[in-house]
Amino acid sequence: MKYKNIFFAIVCSLPTSFSASADLSALFTCKSMPQNPTTIELSDNSLTCAERTILISDFQYLENLKLQKHDPELAKLLEVEKVTSENLMEWLQKRITYIYSAGRGNSGFVSNSSMAVFENPFIPFTDHVAVPKLGIGAQAKFLGIWQAENIGSESYAQAKQNGVAYDFESPEGKTIPVLSPRVGLISVSGLFAPQFYPNPMLLKTEANSIYRLGVLFHEARHSDGSGRHLGFPHNLCPEGHDYAGQSACDDTLNGAYTVGAHVMNELMMNCKDCSEEDLSSLQSSIHNDLQRVNKEIPVSEYAVNETMAACKKVKEAAESSPFEMKFSQKLILDDCPLAIEFQNKIRRAEWVDPAPEFLKLRSPILMMDNSAP
Ligand SMILES: [Zn+2]
Repeated sequence: MKYKNIFFAIVCSLPTSFSASADLSALFTCKSMPQNPTTIELSDNSLTCAERTILISDFQYLENLKLQKHDPELAKLLEVEKVTSENLMEWLQKRITYIYSAGRGNSGFVSNSSMAVFENPFIPFTDHVAVPKLGIGAQAKFLGIWQAENIGSESYAQAKQNGVAYDFESPEGKTIPVLSPRVGLISVSGLFAPQFYPNPMLLKTEANSIYRLGVLFHEARHSDGSGRHLGFPHNLCPEGHDYAGQSACDDTLNGAYTVGAHVMNELMMNCKDCSEEDLSSLQSSIHNDLQRVNKEIPVSEYAVNETMAACKKVKEAAESSPFEMKFSQKLILDDCPLAIEFQNKIRRAEWVDPAPEFLKLRSPILMMDNSAP
């Protein structure tokens, strides 16, 4: 389970024709900006004025929501008693702290200690996936362009795997220590591309805000999870799926695709100015996300082999002393093929703990410094 390719993957997926050169500096100098109602910081040096304005208007929309109808699953998914505008705002702000574009301005991660101590040992994410990869984001309509990515939990997972601690250097030159998957650093790229939107013709529609918020709640969920579910990484889509063989599905029932879809559904149910076309397009996005949740997943080859080996053992024992074979052994023997088949297709009803982990001790080297004369 390696994360070594993530930075390469990010670089590859970003637009290359755009750079924060002197000619484009005007894009980042805004005359006036609307009031951001959240604590989420928007990168001045890598997001254009237009992009920041869009995000702030989405946050204002969320802040002013009056939710009359409710998605039946959402409160349980978000672990809130009731879904309200305040609860949605709070949930998002706990998991997203900073939004930037990794393709513009200088940013990156630096290792600040080679002796970091994490709360729990590193656990491979799953035992049945080849290479899990986070941050696929909501690639609703076509693959290859990423809309957004939770770079914070990815880097935390990678740091943990390597036993180091990372600091994030933002395009504004700020250093943010990556101490938990809740560090909340979100890189956006295709989030502002109209071709993804439910209504690409009328950009300032409610449906488009709902869609972008769905993407942000999806990314926010990647700030959760612990142990093997750290960051709720995506898993391979099964055979026969539209995205078969790609890390674009979830094996958990409360993962990022599920959260994004149900948030979109809740907002869509309360949409005031959605046209029939808007509703139909949003519904298709929700459907696309939910189709990525694997309800039945195969267990590992290892588990199947273990079961078959156990069956063989029982069979051999029964054959060597048939008169002493106990009733239970007989049952196991008869049920062996069924047991294997069952193990091959288990219903994934697991509800994973979304609590994040933390880096406990940042730098033991500091302790050595303190003890120096
Ligand atoms: Zn994702």
